[in-house]
Amino acid sequence: MPAELICFEPKCRACYPIDEVIYSCPRCNGLLEVVYPDRSLDAAELKKIWRERRMSNAALDRSGVWRYRECIPFVEDFEKVVSLCEGNTPLLDAPRAAAYAGLDRLAFKHQGFNPTGSFKDNGMTCGVAQALRLGMKRVACVSTGNTSASMAAYASAAGLDPVIFIPHGNISYGKLAQALEYGARTLQVEANFDQILALVRVLAERLGIYLLNSINPFRIEGQKTIIVEMMDQRDWNPPDWIVLPGGNLGNTSAFGKALREMVQLGLIPRSPRLAVIQAEGSAPFYDLVRHSRSALEPVKKPETLATAIRIGDPVSWPKALHEVRCSNGVVECVTEQEIADAKAQIGLCGIGCEPASAATLAGIRKLAAAGVVRRSDDVVAVLTGNLLKDPDYIYRYHTGQLKAPSGAQILSRFGNQPIVVPNDPDRIAELLS
Ligand SMILES: *Cc1c(COP(=O)(O)O)cnc(C)c1O
Repeated sequence: MPAELICFEPKCRACYPIDEVIYSCPRCNGLLEVVYPDRSLDAAELKKIWRERRMSNAALDRSGVWRYRECIPFVEDFEKVVSLCEGNTPLLDAPRAAAYAGLDRLAFKHQGFNPTGSFKDNGMTCGVAQALRLGMKRVACVSTGNTSASMAAYASAAGLDPVIFIPHGNISYGKLAQALEYGARTLQVEANFDQILALVRVLAERLGIYLLNSINPFRIEGQKTIIVEMMDQRDWNPPDWIVLPGGNLGNTSAFGKALREMVQLGLIPRSPRLAVIQAEGSAPFYDLVRHSRSALEPVKKPETLATAIRIGDPVSWPKALHEVRCSNGVVECVTEQEIADAKAQIGLCGIGCEPASAATLAGIRKLAAAGVVRRSDDVVAVLTGNLLKDPDYIYRYHTGQLKAPSGAQILSRFGNQPIVVPNDPDRIAELLS
């Protein structure tokens, strides 16, 4: 029996063939998930195969996603997969960041080392694999950020035609530049994000375009391998906590699914707890969990300088809620100042990341202060994007020019200003002594 698409809604659970072009349940509009039939996989054997593949030079084995293909067997013909050697991201010890957070130790799983600089690549190689298997010629997404950059790269590498829809006048240049360079047709529409999403759904059907938005269940499958690779790097010893930023909550959904499946397959003895961190100005998921509401109330005007998590109406919240509950997890939110300071601390580790990623360290610090995370706990934070995605933010922070969306000045607490000096060795020597 092949993999299937199943509606995530407990009351529905309708099943669809894996090669049906649908993005949500045609019956109830619920989220879809990829479900595999019961597999008799031997955990010890899998661990051995995956280790051996690290010594292989075959393209599929070198990919930090497809190396673990037994965890994502939705494609039938692996020969058709297009890889840019995604994944393979390091797990970095960060004692300085641990001290800042009030922990004995802390490690970062740095997804910013991916080919286009964010974890979106782990998912996109799978989304594009599905587009190829469906025989699609064009793919599209609505995004001004890392999704566009990643989709453009993978689609072009696969010989597909990438089309990006962006809200007019809402452009983040670092990421948009990548999309242009990777050859995506970029359409600025005079409408807001939600209106464009509706428009693109109509166009997708009419023109036979495959949508690779965050809701796409195959991207979630690829993002699971971030956790599989992390456990492989830790010799299958799960940490106490995995901490990640929450925006559209696709990653939270993917991490939770990975953990459940890994426990079920006997790859790890128990599940770590998930800690999802949101920015204060766009924290609908935090509100949902905090107030134990039954449904998410969207934030109408989400605000944060961490643009990758500036999401008011996260599509994957039902899945994410399930995963936070299953892992006995927590959700926290942090201020703009806390994100900016945490980001500078990650920089001082020689590591660096984009603003959304730094919400993790800010959140850990807050959770440690509250006693939710204990000093001796074994914690891995996932840094989602590369430092160079948002250089403008960094320069402004260090020179005391960074302002929160509210207009409030962000203090340059760990600022590091460039210094203008005269062309005079004595004066410079004096300055450096
Ligand atoms: C997409 C993205 C996020 C948010 O992830 P979700 O899966 O939408 O919650 C966080 N950080 C970076 C750098 C991203 O690109």
